[in-house]
Amino acid sequence: PRPNSAAARDVRSQLHPYTNPLALEQDGPVIVTRGDGAWVEDEAGARYIEGLAGLWCTALGFSAEERLARVAYDQMRMLAFYHPFGQKAHLPGIDLAEALLAMAPVPMSKVLFSGSGSEANDTALKLIRFYNNALGRPEKKKVISRIKAYHGVTLATASLTGLPNNHRDFDLPMPGILHTSCPHHYRFALEGESPEAFATRCADDLEALIQAEGPETIAAFFAEPVMGAGGVIVPPPTYFEKIQAVLKRHDILFVVDEVICGFGRTGNVWGSQTFGLEPDMLTCAKQLSSGYMPLSALMMTEKVYQVIRDNAGRIGILGHGYTYGGHPVSCAVAREVLRLYEERDLFAHAATVGPVMQKRLRTLADHPLVGEVRGVGLVAGVEIVRDKASRQPFDPAQGVGLAIGRNLHRHGVITRVIGDTVAFSPPLIITEEEIDAMVSRVARALDDTLAWCRAEDKL
Ligand code: PLP
Repeated sequence: PRPNSAAARDVRSQLHPYTNPLALEQDGPVIVTRGDGAWVEDEAGARYIEGLAGLWCTALGFSAEERLARVAYDQMRMLAFYHPFGQKAHLPGIDLAEALLAMAPVPMSKVLFSGSGSEANDTALKLIRFYNNALGRPEKKKVISRIKAYHGVTLATASLTGLPNNHRDFDLPMPGILHTSCPHHYRFALEGESPEAFATRCADDLEALIQAEGPETIAAFFAEPVMGAGGVIVPPPTYFEKIQAVLKRHDILFVVDEVICGFGRTGNVWGSQTFGLEPDMLTCAKQLSSGYMPLSALMMTEKVYQVIRDNAGRIGILGHGYTYGGHPVSCAVAREVLRLYEERDLFAHAATVGPVMQKRLRTLADHPLVGEVRGVGLVAGVEIVRDKASRQPFDPAQGVGLAIGRNLHRHGVITRVIGDTVAFSPPLIITEEEIDAMVSRVARALDDTLAWCRAEDKL
């Protein structure tokens, strides 16, 4: 970066999450300065279609929304901070909790707010322990999630996450957090195995893990309806039906992580509706506030609440809560975001343009670098392979992922290349024309990458 440019100042001053520091030092960051609908603009005035809604969160896009700014301003002037600790409450928190309970995919009893998806899942992990301690079965503590899951980055939620980068260098997972098979048919099915048979095998794997550990030791199972940051993995039909039967058989709580899928992403309000899930606890964040203010929520059923209530009452208090959990400004903005979703019928719009995006992206399936195009609603993944027939991926050291990222950038699309998969999760406001523009830019970026692979002898 040029000396004294904002990029140079950035390189000198910030450590970036999920970033290669050497690449950052060499190239500097893209400094995003303004937003406009599904588009963002950098310092130099270049415009990009934001194919990932930031971090899967800005459902309403990147434009300044006068109404949301006004709500935040008014709340700051009225009451800039308050909290629900120790028998206090504030109105934005009450309004938002009621709105969430009214929208829940199954009857839910209580909402507990926190600030991020990781905190909501961490809270769920703690309440699961509290719940089983209260029921007098302290041995029922282990939790199962899945290989390639993404549930956050705190020590406990990074343990739930099932990705090597989150474990390898941090001495994780913590004891008592286990991983079962990933329901990705394209990658993990046996030769000739049908999606149905593969789903049965995944459920059998879960059953075998539970039996090996002892069913009396397994407290909960965590799952995203569609696995997002693990590479946009859509489970095969009947997968969740079979998994839920196993959980019921062993009295294991089902925690559904709707941090990405919640609020219209998969074509219904909740991913739980798209896949027929019946959570005991549900976590959400991101599109809850369209990503505009930090906020997450954990909802729980009456069954869970009653046990926690009785025990917390007996011991005096529930010893958990974050200073910024359910911040009044965040809650006020989120409540207004939910109103905007409703007034603009945004979930119906997403359900209409979602299949258009799926169809357009599938036109890339014939590209020599594309192994699989998958997704549902407005979330999709395009998996890159070195060899289509054998489904062989590139060796990460070949730098093909980085090359695709660079080419997407050059063609004016921002998204993330996660492992071998290019992820798409654009703002829900995206139009059909913008989807067309995005997909044709992606096609050009893939062509350029193919030419580079050939020139550099990567194939
Ligand atoms: N759960 C899922 C499904 C996510 O995708 C994420 C973040 O991407 C998280 C949890 C963690 O949320 P946060 O980054 O807000 O802590």
